[in-house]
Amino acid sequence: MAAARSRRLNDFALRSKFVKRATRKFMPGEHADDALAAGATIAASGRGLIFTQLGEAITSAAAARAVRDHYLRFFDQIHALRLPAQVSVKPTQLGLDLSIAECERHLLALAAKAEETGSALWLDMEDSSYVDRTLELYVTLLRNHPSSGVALQAYLRRTPDDLSRLMPVKPVIRLVKGAYDEPKAVAFEKKSDTDRAYYSLASTLLDGAREGVCTPVFGTHDLGLIARIAARAAVSDVGKDKYQIHMLYGIRDAAQRRLVAEGHIVKTLISYGAAWYRWYMRRLAERPANVLFVFKSLFG
Ligand SMILES: Cc1cc2nc3c(=O)[nH]c(=O)nc-3n(C[C@H](O)[C@H](O)[C@H](O)COP(=O)(O)OP(=O)(O)OC[C@H]3O[C@@H](n4cnc5c(N)ncnc54)[C@H](O)[C@@H]3O)c2cc1C
Repeated sequence: MAAARSRRLNDFALRSKFVKRATRKFMPGEHADDALAAGATIAASGRGLIFTQLGEAITSAAAARAVRDHYLRFFDQIHALRLPAQVSVKPTQLGLDLSIAECERHLLALAAKAEETGSALWLDMEDSSYVDRTLELYVTLLRNHPSSGVALQAYLRRTPDDLSRLMPVKPVIRLVKGAYDEPKAVAFEKKSDTDRAYYSLASTLLDGAREGVCTPVFGTHDLGLIARIAARAAVSDVGKDKYQIHMLYGIRDAAQRRLVAEGHIVKTLISYGAAWYRWYMRRLAERPANVLFVFKSLFG
């Protein structure tokens, strides 16, 4: 994960056409138009779409406003193309490090635009130092725009408590395992502990869905886990229309199609943008086999 923070490597990667070629597995291109074109094909296979422009931790108020303005235009584009699409943003991309009040104004503007164009806004969850502020922002968003969603990370020890606190406000939750390098005091070290926590949180979310107090989205490529969650939903009388499965572009594509054929609501998250390096390093860290893929792209 240290590589994800290396500026020198970042600069090298941004200039390297070979590395760019390797990232094509996970993103259709750097431009919004590349993502929209790929999205149209995926939508034709019965899947919904989530778009995100890569980037995090911007360092000026002007940069945050530029990100907001980009997404305001982007909502118009997905509306004009009639794509079944939503947008997911990182709060630090909208200036959370600079001013939470300003970040909140940007998010409210985006959620209002999402609503106006028949879409919805998601908040990604970043590293653990941002969880309190992200949830605070989310509750404000949800109060004004009830279709807004937020990601919760199963590897964080605090997440069961966060979920209980959110339940009274009828949240839309994307449950993910968690992608950041966290100290063991705040996150499980062992993958098996995270997987166990994920299933337990998923069960709580399904119970909430049955009672109509939350909308669960399972953001994972773990097919065994998805099968167990779907089985739990079936025995608990939670219909397939009451929860969703979201996966990333380029990962488990055949499984995404199969889940659609089985009647699940599936959405594919498509990333685009020039600031892809840190994000891409997290994808590599999730699955070391992807490093081999990079080498094949470099030398194949
Ligand atoms: C829609 C969506 C939104 C997300 N949003 C966030 C967020 O806001 N915050 C956050 O911290 N994390 C987010 N993540 C990332 C998440 O936390 C995990 O890091 C990531 O999904 C990998 O874990 P997994 O659940 O797929 O399970 P794993 O147990 O890691 O993987 C299960 C199987 O999926 C396949 N797989 C997993 N990752 C890859 C990969 N990169 N390339 C190829 N195959 C792979 C492998 O076959 C693997 O065996 C998101 C993930 C998704 C799908």
